[in-house]
Amino acid sequence: MIATMQRVLAVLLLMGLIPGASAADFVIRNLDAGSGTGLSNTRRVAPVDGNPGTTLGAQRRIALRYAVRIVTSRLVSPVPIRIDARVDSDHPDLVCTRNSATLGLGGATNYTANFPGAPRRDVVYPLALANALAGQRLAQGADVRLFMNGRLDVAGNDCLRGATWYYGLRGAPGNNQIDFVGSVVHELIHGMGFQAIIALTDAGDLQQGAYPVFRNGRRFPSVFGRYAQDLALTGQPRFPELRVERRADALDDAPFVVWSSSMTNAATTNFVTAGRREGRIRLYAPEVVLPGSSISHWSAAVEPDQIMEPFESVETSVLNGLGLASCALRDIGWQLADGVRCPDIRTAPIVGTARGQYVRAFARPAVSQPQAGDSSATDRDDDDAGGSGGGCTMMPGQPFDPVWLVLCVLAAGVLVVRRNRPGLV
Ligand SMILES: [Zn+2]
Repeated sequence: MIATMQRVLAVLLLMGLIPGASAADFVIRNLDAGSGTGLSNTRRVAPVDGNPGTTLGAQRRIALRYAVRIVTSRLVSPVPIRIDARVDSDHPDLVCTRNSATLGLGGATNYTANFPGAPRRDVVYPLALANALAGQRLAQGADVRLFMNGRLDVAGNDCLRGATWYYGLRGAPGNNQIDFVGSVVHELIHGMGFQAIIALTDAGDLQQGAYPVFRNGRRFPSVFGRYAQDLALTGQPRFPELRVERRADALDDAPFVVWSSSMTNAATTNFVTAGRREGRIRLYAPEVVLPGSSISHWSAAVEPDQIMEPFESVETSVLNGLGLASCALRDIGWQLADGVRCPDIRTAPIVGTARGQYVRAFARPAVSQPQAGDSSATDRDDDDAGGSGGGCTMMPGQPFDPVWLVLCVLAAGVLVVRRNRPGLV
């Protein structure tokens, strides 16, 4: 009997029906391949701090892959995570001035609801997490999109007063350097679902405070957004309980907007020394709503400094783990890899065995059923929701499907921006 059960178990594991506790593997599509720029920049450089690359592009690829391993090693998924990545010196949203910069844009390419294995109905999950929960790939194309700001390395443009990226793997940027690995980790965590997916401004059909609309006209909160709570309002509602106008009002309710997970609150009592409200960790909700930043970060008041605060900090280093981000990722449904805790304060940057490689194109097959989200849709690069709204729309022209997909494109309202703190460099 036991032997039979073992055999059944083995078969199920082979079929991928039972997620093992192994780290999530990944595939990175180099969107700069063949261009001679960005991740494929051919400028010669000297190796730096554990990064043996001898061209700028090679160093960027090595550092980016290392950052991806830091995150994916901590998460469990039977479905490899697909990432579209580039280093872009021309992207209109990747600004860089003398005093501030958007270091990167990162986020899920799609959100989906009511897929097979979804823990909650009528809640949208980022594609990488939905794949992990479903135990199968739900859509073709990339799960995560990651654009890093290449302007930092363009000589003579006075970006952050001449600051450059640090591509070393030791978390030790020098004066006037910004840690590339840490910044990629930050953006990638957004892509794993650390994103509220709430319209932060009015834009087109979207009203501030609204959730993305599906083709059938319904609106669902994101699994992350379920944990946003406003302690200043009567009844201390979570965001999905609010009517859209009230939710819009709540977007700037610092210091009362908090992360409402009792599991995380209990686990971080001694770890978080500042930035709590009524025992709960504060979310970023400044009085001027910042498209791309509000709600989708920890409050900048949180101590110790966190990788998922909205501003880059010299005190955070991914060599000290993901911190509170592991708690939020667990809350929204990720299974943490063996040995990963909430909070994650491991000093070893790589804790698991996530494997991954660069490709020019993703393998085509392995979608188990017809889906609304195919590559032609996820490859779209326009944004009919406007640059500062929710940025997520149901894909047009697609039939109703129980697997409902939202298309999230590179809009500042969805993809969360990391700005350098003026005066840091
Ligand atoms: Zn961010």
